[in-house]
Amino acid sequence: MFKNNHPLKYKRVILKLSGESLMDHKKKKSINYFSLHFLSKEIKKIVDLNIELGIVIGAGNLFRGFQLQKIGLNRVVADHIGMLSTIINGLALNNSVSQMKIKTFLMSSIPINGICEIYNWRKADKLLSKKFVLIFSAGLANPLFTTDSAACLRAIEINADIVLKGTQVDGVYTKDPKKNIDAKLYSRLRYKEVLEKELKIMDLSAFTLARDYNLPIRVFNIKKSNSLLRIIQGYNEGTLIY
Ligand code: UDP
Repeated sequence: MFKNNHPLKYKRVILKLSGESLMDHKKKKSINYFSLHFLSKEIKKIVDLNIELGIVIGAGNLFRGFQLQKIGLNRVVADHIGMLSTIINGLALNNSVSQMKIKTFLMSSIPINGICEIYNWRKADKLLSKKFVLIFSAGLANPLFTTDSAACLRAIEINADIVLKGTQVDGVYTKDPKKNIDAKLYSRLRYKEVLEKELKIMDLSAFTLARDYNLPIRVFNIKKSNSLLRIIQGYNEGTLIY
């Protein structure tokens, strides 16, 4: 197990949370109170260590553009709905984390006056230095992208040490672990190996952005208590892509 006085591996990180992480265990499309509360507690564990934390929030629990396109909506409009859904999740997460007596700030890439502030790089950097947990919503404000791209871009902009991609499985496997009992977990992977083996870590534009700017990504199970804390303390949790 970990010790509380363990030296920290990172100073500033981006945590990517999919919308799925806000659902309940039955995967009902919504925001679940217990999931929000669990995430907030996990976040508090690393905030208490003075980590500078930015969170990029997705919206798979509410709407994804490509799914709405399948039912007949125009893709651009569908993606607008997806991006607005990330603001809804951002509001919920921001409120839940702030109830832990943590300083938080919600930014959106799409202006939405009176509800949250527009993304501003300089302000984001200042707030992070002042140890605010900064929640980035509305992705990149452009359709045809995902919040994984937003996570990698924001990480590069704010000079984060790493992107921590919280998922529902323990990391990157040789095969789908839900369908194959012999699937093995990778502990480390080079960017090149991910592309050669056609492993699905995130969409290609997000992944190549990370690779081109040498931004490491760690894929880990956010549902596992203390996993985020263990990563910050340098333990080998999930899969590191470098
Ligand atoms: N989206 C977009 N541009 C962006 C980020 C997101 O159009 O820069 C839309 C897109 O429709 C996407 C949805 O917002 O499906 C929700 O984001 P994402 O699928 O990344 O959520 P997650 O899978 O992380 O829950």
